Amino acid sequence: MNYQNIRQAQKRFYHSGATRSIAFRKEQLKFLKNLIQSNEELFYDAIYKDFRKSRFETYTNELSIIYAEIDYYLKNLKRIAKPKRVRTNLTNIPGQSYIYHDPLGTVLIISAWNYPYQLTLTPLVSAIAGGNTAIIKPSELPMHTMYLMEKLINTNFPKEYLHVVTGAIPETTALLALAYDKIFFTGSPKVGKIVYEAAAKQLCPVTLELGGKSPAILTPSANLKVAIKRLVWGKFLNAGQTCIAPDYLYVHESIKTNVLQIIKEILEKIPYNDGADHYVSIIDQHNYNRLEKMMNADKVYYKNGEHNPEKLHFAPTIMSDVTWDDTVMQDEIFGPLLPVLTYNDFRQVLETINDKEKPLSAYLFSNDAKEKDTFLNILTFGGGCINDTIMHVASEYLPFGGVGNSGTGNYHGEAGFRCFTHQKSVLKKANWGEPNLKYPPYTENKLKWIKKVL
Ligand code: NAD
Repeated sequence: MNYQNIRQAQKRFYHSGATRSIAFRKEQLKFLKNLIQSNEELFYDAIYKDFRKSRFETYTNELSIIYAEIDYYLKNLKRIAKPKRVRTNLTNIPGQSYIYHDPLGTVLIISAWNYPYQLTLTPLVSAIAGGNTAIIKPSELPMHTMYLMEKLINTNFPKEYLHVVTGAIPETTALLALAYDKIFFTGSPKVGKIVYEAAAKQLCPVTLELGGKSPAILTPSANLKVAIKRLVWGKFLNAGQTCIAPDYLYVHESIKTNVLQIIKEILEKIPYNDGADHYVSIIDQHNYNRLEKMMNADKVYYKNGEHNPEKLHFAPTIMSDVTWDDTVMQDEIFGPLLPVLTYNDFRQVLETINDKEKPLSAYLFSNDAKEKDTFLNILTFGGGCINDTIMHVASEYLPFGGVGNSGTGNYHGEAGFRCFTHQKSVLKKANWGEPNLKYPPYTENKLKWIKKVL
């Protein structure tokens, strides 16, 4: 079956009204949850083959997030999907005003490789909750996970409702040539622009979940031990292959030596050695080589073990005395390299960051109320944490997304429902009380009255 036929079949299915009822959507969500749960072993197995992700991490940063999202909708969908009655303005009285949450129709979901289940299935859950049909294109890099999702979804859901397309650039390009009612894309800003351009040709709305360099700033007022433990965890989770990983660290000059020492001590206690079940490999040779090129050996302060190119094992590496001229600061790192920069003027740091592309995330470690305020008021970023890293993504109550170069739109929980629905405004008028004022002829006297009323 070619893509155009699938798209057409989904369009017909959507217009049949089959996906609209809340009961149908909840039934599909329950079915999907059950499908994943009853095949959990296959999920663990496939991702381990792709980049040696452990069962613990697969559960905590992939499957549990999908389950939480499904549970959120099972509990809240009826409430958030209910038409909302709003006030009716004077001009429209007598009447009633409503906002209906209409499904968008057929959506295309394209996802990235680094959290292959979560980034593919979480938007899918929202698309289902919104009452849509979906064509899903997972990343081709973790191929075992891609084929697993293809097999499970395509054999358990009718293609006119949900369908996974496997493939790389040619397949995605062919998919992007068709018209959809929404494209949800997770990936790099570079490919985001290709997707945006293709969508523009069809005037198709998009949500773009992109990346960039997300800063972490550590000030002298922070609780250093707690801060650095959380920073190190967030940086080396998934071997740094996390869109919201702290990309680089800014520390105040006065605490630099101490901070570097604590980072080293923490890393020494958790050896991220080759084969450790809490440390994944780099996804492929291309990304491994990219990281090697970013690493300036002269600036390496500490390495937690040895790199092993054959096994795609890239040991957590700390670089110090880094400046914006270094190669490592030119692009998103997306790997286990932590460059440490120093500052003297807190506000100046925020202005320097504001001069760059808007980051997906930002993290501040501080116990000073004024610093926290300045951070929130001066810096533009998609989302983030104060005194933690990453964890804001794990809440279905916080909309997740970037801003500017790091993305447009957001999802998770109610935001995900909004992302895949249209707010349809409807005025229901009464058949009485029709003022003659709005009808021609438009006399000066009518204008006088209109001015009084409006
Ligand atoms: P990518 O942009 O290379 O690929 C993403 C998807 O686009 C894949 O499915 C791929 O097949 C497809 N694709 C690649 N090149 C294409 C082209 N020329 N034309 C059409 N389709 C194409 O991104 P990636 O390497 O998979 O992921 C890494 C990037 O994604 C990083 O920048 C990271 O920050 C970002 N990311 C963002 C989020 C988020 O939620 N904001 C999450 C994960 C990753």
